[in-house]
Amino acid sequence: GDESAEERKAREEEAASRKLAADLAAEVAKRRNFAIISHPDAGKTTLTEKLLLYGGAIHEAGAVKARRASRHATSDWMAMEQQRGISITSTAMVFETKGHSITLLDTPGHADFGEDTYRTLAAADNAVMLVDAGKGLEPQTRKLFEVCRMRKLPVFTFMNKLDRPAKEPLELLDEIEKEFALQTYPVNWPIGSGDRFVGVYHRPRKEVHLFQRDASHGSREIISTVLAGDDPTLKDIIEPDLYEQLQEELELLEELTPPLDMDRVRSGDLSPVFFGSAMNNFGVELFLESFLGYAVPPKAYESSRGEISPEYPHFTGFVFKLQANMDPRHRDKVAFVRVCSGQFEKGMKVQLARTGKTIALTRPQKLFAQERSTMETGFAGDVIGLNNPNAFAIGDTIFSGPRLAYPAIPCFSPELFMYIKNPNPSKYKQFQKGISELLGEGAVQVLYSMDPGQTNPILAAVGQLQFEVVQHRMQSEYNVDTTLEPIGYTVARWVVGGWDALEKVGRLYNCATVKDMWGRPVLLFRNDWNVSQLLNDNPEIGELAPYSLPP
Ligand code: GDP
Repeated sequence: GDESAEERKAREEEAASRKLAADLAAEVAKRRNFAIISHPDAGKTTLTEKLLLYGGAIHEAGAVKARRASRHATSDWMAMEQQRGISITSTAMVFETKGHSITLLDTPGHADFGEDTYRTLAAADNAVMLVDAGKGLEPQTRKLFEVCRMRKLPVFTFMNKLDRPAKEPLELLDEIEKEFALQTYPVNWPIGSGDRFVGVYHRPRKEVHLFQRDASHGSREIISTVLAGDDPTLKDIIEPDLYEQLQEELELLEELTPPLDMDRVRSGDLSPVFFGSAMNNFGVELFLESFLGYAVPPKAYESSRGEISPEYPHFTGFVFKLQANMDPRHRDKVAFVRVCSGQFEKGMKVQLARTGKTIALTRPQKLFAQERSTMETGFAGDVIGLNNPNAFAIGDTIFSGPRLAYPAIPCFSPELFMYIKNPNPSKYKQFQKGISELLGEGAVQVLYSMDPGQTNPILAAVGQLQFEVVQHRMQSEYNVDTTLEPIGYTVARWVVGGWDALEKVGRLYNCATVKDMWGRPVLLFRNDWNVSQLLNDNPEIGELAPYSLPP
């Protein structure tokens, strides 16, 4: 037929946009991104190492160990920061396996636990909850789980250290179900634990994977012996009481556990559970294989323009973490961006939603194991590190198409409170500047006393290290020596009804009223018990929230 130039152009444009959509869909389908949540010492470093080993990113486990050794003492951390910058691996690791590109977002633990740990979960599509099977649920796991719940992340549970005496598996599942109101689906089931740990029964394939103590301490991949679940030799391998217990428990599981409903897994209401021993490389490969099958690919994000799918043709993303001084040679600051849609390209120009300014993304970095290398492209689910000093704040949206913004990342309930003081009046200006810049960067939260005589800001943190970082940076970047004075509160709650709600109830006992950086009322309590007591005595105050979104 006769096609006009316009028609031809329209046809070509449509073909191009179809091709782009198909390309994006293919890239997105390959990607899986997750964060590990756990309490210190549950074995996160060990599991990370083993996942990277199976993922082929490192051939000899141990590469991640340098981090472990260096992060126990805060002083080491500071020294490390000064000498060579914080390892970029502390934010994201990427590895490719079985046709998937996997991004493991690191959630700092131990002394470096801070708000970054929570914010990282804003960039994650899936969470792996790592539990020490000898101990069950622990405080840090509980806190991080709350964030996963709030974000409706699918949660995959790995019960670790089965080579050591463990709690009964049914008891472990029960803890999760009761405390987290999260149903569980054991994908595999342990046979004994500690010295009597025989292996796991893998339910989907009805196989027994036999545990082999690993003399190399798991620095190499181990191929474990696999037998069919009805193999008659199992009776010779497994001691009679354990064998009988296994049969009973498997029957019980068939009766009690709901089917593995993937919709409920994806919505974060049902957690597939795995048992193993990261240190012995046991159960890790089995976990990785199932995880890749169950985990969700990069998801759609809510935005001011509605839901943005990962295949949306324009590049969009948001800043979830800022890290200063990574490279001491030039005091740079890296903004870590979660790509939400479209294709990121080296050198591209984007707009910053907060200011409307155009920014050229000049020095993008790909995050791979222990190296920094320049990244050429990126798709939804990827994390990119940008060197655009001072351009970004936590939660900033960047986009290349029509204007849009992603919701702010919530402030998380701080648990440690200190007045920060500047003993030297001649440093007043630097002090104010430093506090407001570190605040803007999200290094720490700042609250203000309602007492007009108290002009010192209150630093509010979730981890001790945040204070030390603030003091250190106030000294090195703003040349102000500060002092800290602890305040005896441990719980903060935002008054959802605002000042009006507070006025209604009148005088409050056993708490202090302060305001956040946006002037909203926050109550500080000595403990959780005082929170419930206040709610009991003053129901008309309405909701007290542990998290809050910037207005
Ligand atoms: P993280 O603090 O969660 O990163 O924990 P690490 O990976 O550093 O492990 C804490 C300790 O537990 C180390 O001494 C590990 O060797 C040990 N560990 C990790 N996984 C296992 C395991 O499967 N079995 C045993 N027995 N120990 C383990």
